[in-house]
Amino acid sequence: MEATNPATGEQIATYDEDDEGDIEAKLRTAQSTFEEWRDVPLRERERLLENAGEVLRENKERYARLMTEEMGKPIAQARAEVEKCAWACDHYAEYAHAYLADEHHPSPPGTEVKTVHDPLGPVLAVMPWNYPFWQVIRFAAPYVTAGNVGLLKHASNVPGCALALEEVFEEAGYPEGVFQTLLVGSSKIDGVLRDDRIRAATLTGSGPAGRTVAETAGNQLKKTVLELGGSDPFVVLDDADLEAAVETGVTARTQNGGQSCIAAKRFVVHTDVYDEYVDRLVDAFEALTVGDPTAEETDVGPQADPDLMAELHEQVTQSIEAGATVVTGGEPLDREGAFYPPTVLTDVPEGCPADTEETFGPVATVYEVADEDEAIDVANDTRFGLGASLWTDDRERAQRLAREVEAGCVYINQMTKSDPRVPFGGIKDAGYGRELSEAGIKEFVNRKTVWTE
Ligand code: NAP
Repeated sequence: MEATNPATGEQIATYDEDDEGDIEAKLRTAQSTFEEWRDVPLRERERLLENAGEVLRENKERYARLMTEEMGKPIAQARAEVEKCAWACDHYAEYAHAYLADEHHPSPPGTEVKTVHDPLGPVLAVMPWNYPFWQVIRFAAPYVTAGNVGLLKHASNVPGCALALEEVFEEAGYPEGVFQTLLVGSSKIDGVLRDDRIRAATLTGSGPAGRTVAETAGNQLKKTVLELGGSDPFVVLDDADLEAAVETGVTARTQNGGQSCIAAKRFVVHTDVYDEYVDRLVDAFEALTVGDPTAEETDVGPQADPDLMAELHEQVTQSIEAGATVVTGGEPLDREGAFYPPTVLTDVPEGCPADTEETFGPVATVYEVADEDEAIDVANDTRFGLGASLWTDDRERAQRLAREVEAGCVYINQMTKSDPRVPFGGIKDAGYGRELSEAGIKEFVNRKTVWTE
């Protein structure tokens, strides 16, 4: 397995993939560790998670640089990602016992009926490269604290991050086998998922990967959580605070090089403020610093991989050929590395790639709408349903419209974001299940009813 720096094209390191013998050994370790880990008191599991948060903070700079090297995330954003991981550890270290407390039910006199929450076993996690630490901690912190053990199959372009995450759990003092990294390509997933020792799977990634894993898991009757792609609308109504909607809209579209599932991808703007909004958005896009991800001032680094940038550019090119107007950007930068400029497309024809597909890079499409009804129609005119952001000064209007948006979450006068305290997940082609908060930790537990006469 190779790790390549997308800013320079240089190979950083190579790693030996796990062979069949390694995979079998890790499955065996996962199973035997689970038999003991499930009986470790929850308070002790919380304490170890608190340690994991400390390990993350202590090694923040090293882990941040690793992400920046392997997938091009601007260094300041990489540090923020490590901090956020530590926060998720702190959160579950504090709340897991409350989330997993027994639930008592109405029952006949003299009878006690309750639900207890037992772990399921080894959970396979298939994860993407875009937030290489956060996506992993987001599943691992709750699932292992609930008493499961985790086997991570990380994206093939971030093997260094995959191994560093294993190190976090080791250094925090977890028993060997509670969290293991499998260094394998995606062709090995089917076999691992079919193994009886794997009891459930969680996948964050693209639709095709999600469907493949869900198909096998369905056949094996194993539960899955799928966090897939998005084409989130960012709706700006006539009474919105335009300055804030521009400032936040720029971050929402371009942070992490635009490679975020919950990035604002389609800007849906009321006709009364459309011209002003587009002008300001374009000015703000052009003011961003694109370049070396190790530089503190960089806003937008390289795309994570030259092939992914080529796919993005193909989507833009086809959309322009179909009639879209490029207001800024639209051509890869003429320099070494996979650099794509912040791009704004208007007059986007229905059905072109930028309209119907997820654009995983700093490309915003802007739609002009006549009123709020049309805004909601355009917002919902997508096969995805991950998040949405809605901008208006009228709180009552915001609450009413939020109920009409087809998405797993709606953020009003704020960008869509994940937060350990709040459920996160999508509907439609964005997947199913929830991560984070109480909902997340309860995805992979046996909700066992205990009736005592
Ligand atoms: P990806 O190509 O689907 O890869 C994600 C993971 O799935 C990788 O570990 C990959 O392994 C594996 N994989 C790929 N094809 C597979 C298959 N047929 N069977 C089993 N595993 C397979 O996605 P990506 O390019 O890394 O990430 C971008 C996508 O993730 C976007 O669509 C984005 O929206 C989505 N995403 C969603 C969320 C969310 O929370 N909803 C968060 C972040 C990203 P290899 O690397 O070895 O191919």
